[in-house]
Amino acid sequence: MPQKKPVDIDILIRQADQAMYQAKLTGKAQYRIFNAEDGNKLRFKYKLIEGMSQALKNAEFCLYYQPKVNMQTGKVLGVEALIRWQHPTKYLLEPNEFLPVLAGNPFMIVLGNWVLENALKQMEHWLTQGIKLKVSVNIDSLQLQEDNFCNNLQNLLAKHPTINPKNLELELLEGGELNDLKITSKVIDKCQAACGVSFTLDDFGTGFSSLTYLQKLPVTTIKIAQNFIQDLHNNTDNLATIKGAIKLAEAFELGVIIEGIDTIEHGEVLIKMGCPQAQGYAIARPMPSEELPAWLETWQTPSAWNNLVTEP
Ligand code: C2E
Ligand code: MG
Ligand code: MG
Repeated sequence: MPQKKPVDIDILIRQADQAMYQAKLTGKAQYRIFNAEDGNKLRFKYKLIEGMSQALKNAEFCLYYQPKVNMQTGKVLGVEALIRWQHPTKYLLEPNEFLPVLAGNPFMIVLGNWVLENALKQMEHWLTQGIKLKVSVNIDSLQLQEDNFCNNLQNLLAKHPTINPKNLELELLEGGELNDLKITSKVIDKCQAACGVSFTLDDFGTGFSSLTYLQKLPVTTIKIAQNFIQDLHNNTDNLATIKGAIKLAEAFELGVIIEGIDTIEHGEVLIKMGCPQAQGYAIARPMPSEELPAWLETWQTPSAWNNLVTEP
């Protein structure tokens, strides 16, 4: 009779742990049975996360900044901080090449805190150059729902007393991860009351329950997702969705901004629709912090946007 191979207890525990981790990722009260393919994927994932942790120590991450403007008046409303990874052997990696693997992983919180801290340092540095800018930072839901998010934020702001907290805006992604609306709205309220920072609902329209989000989350602005900008001239559904989002913002007395304005024509359409606040390649691409002062000096609205009015 063939002898059964003895199971290595350490391997068994590790595999059970991996299955438990997979179950946790898919939500509460779930179970998963370990399989080798999951195991390989997980090993790859952990290696990548380990690489990112090392990259943070090696100062390979940096923030790019993309302006937000009022296309009608030309006023610069602020900038959004967007993370980049200057990989030593690859190229400048964009967030969609490394952030998705961090979903649900505690390292997302570590990296998120690094982003907040560095955005504040940058704001402080710009202030010394006479540049007073509102800066938006993307906050992952895991980071927001962390127990002491608000206290951490308060401590960080206290370290940078020259910054007016009103000039810090936090962008939250609309989507499944904000599903614990009660917790999320409590944290938002607490941060607004304790620190005076404001919140924007990012990528509005891409989640499943936009109206519930608007009702329940005490945000001050919605940012319409760039998906709706694509093929604007031929896609009446996208046009209708943008119009609807603008009206919703109005009804809920919220500010509204649109992202992904990548052509002058997009800007024209959006100004006429009553959404002059925008961000996109037609205005400026995300840029390293040191390039921003020169951009601010030279920026002016394209002439095609001058004298456009909102159509009824
Ligand atoms: P987002 O917050 O919605 O940021 C806007 C994204 O659209 C940016 O991509 C920006 O470069 C891109 N974009 C801006 N204008 C245009 C345009 O006219 N056309 C097109 N096609 N794209 C445009 P990026 O920098 O690759 O960031 C992607 C996403 O990664 C962000 O989407 C945000 O969800 C996430 N992200 C970026 N930085 C951070 C961060 O520090 N923390 C967290 N948690 N997430 C971040
Ligand atoms: Mg954003
Ligand atoms: Mg967005």
